[in-house]
Amino acid sequence: MASLQFEHVVKRYQTARHQTYTAIHGLSAAIADGEFVVIVGPSGCGKSTLLRMVAGLETISAGTIRIGERVVNTLEPAQRDIAMVFQNYALYPHMSVFDNMAYGLKLRGLPKDEIRRRVEQAARILELGHLLERKPCQLSGGQRQRVAMGRAIVRQPQVFLFDEPLSNLDAKLRVQTRLEIQKLHRELGITSLFVTHDQVEAMTLAQRVMVMNGGRMEQFGTPEEVYHRP
Ligand code: ADP
Ligand code: ADP
Repeated sequence: MASLQFEHVVKRYQTARHQTYTAIHGLSAAIADGEFVVIVGPSGCGKSTLLRMVAGLETISAGTIRIGERVVNTLEPAQRDIAMVFQNYALYPHMSVFDNMAYGLKLRGLPKDEIRRRVEQAARILELGHLLERKPCQLSGGQRQRVAMGRAIVRQPQVFLFDEPLSNLDAKLRVQTRLEIQKLHRELGITSLFVTHDQVEAMTLAQRVMVMNGGRMEQFGTPEEVYHRP
């Protein structure tokens, strides 16, 4: 497990030859080991950009991102000890639940026993143990979403990144999956960054809420501090 630090992080996108757009303006923040932080703010304020820089899917134009003591700026995504859960959690349709969860670990060349141990542990936490032989088409929406989370957990990441994972779900499944994420965090205590534009999600999931606007951090506090201030 590890803390996550942003030190004067800048992101500039090249928009045309000789033109850049600054999406993140020198953001600094320290997220404690095991903390659950929700990032909110209007569309285009830089939420995904921030997440994608942590994941290594976007370069960092200036400043530093650290996971624990380690500067990750130039590390490949696979070397960063992170796992990301997206809203479009495409599972491999031809593979069993077990293989869907095991796939990334097989690619990394982990020994078979270790893969089996991790998948079974994740399946226990997510109550998927009885479904390991099924194909995605034989699962309910909620079960599929849990397999997607299982695929992230088996990586044993230091940091969990959630990019609006609930926004494509119907109301019931949204609540169910939110509770599942809360339970996961209670059990595993993995440092988490969760992007949403839904205030209810922010209030129920966050230990602290980071409010972004125009590529800057406007507030960073507990849900009470952010939402109930007179
Ligand atoms: P959010 O996730 O908060 O909706 P984004 O991080 O996706 O915001 O985008 C932040 C800003 O950066 C937006 O103004 C967006 O248009 C711009 N942006 C995002 N990706 C690119 C890109 N690849 N090239 C140029 N501008 C981009
Ligand atoms: P392989 O690497 O060729 O898949 P394994 O002997 O690890 O070989 O597993 C064979 C198949 O059995 C796997 O593809 C997986 O679908 C299934 N499997 C392995 N372990 C478990 C398990 N603990 N629970 C359910 N299915 C499993």
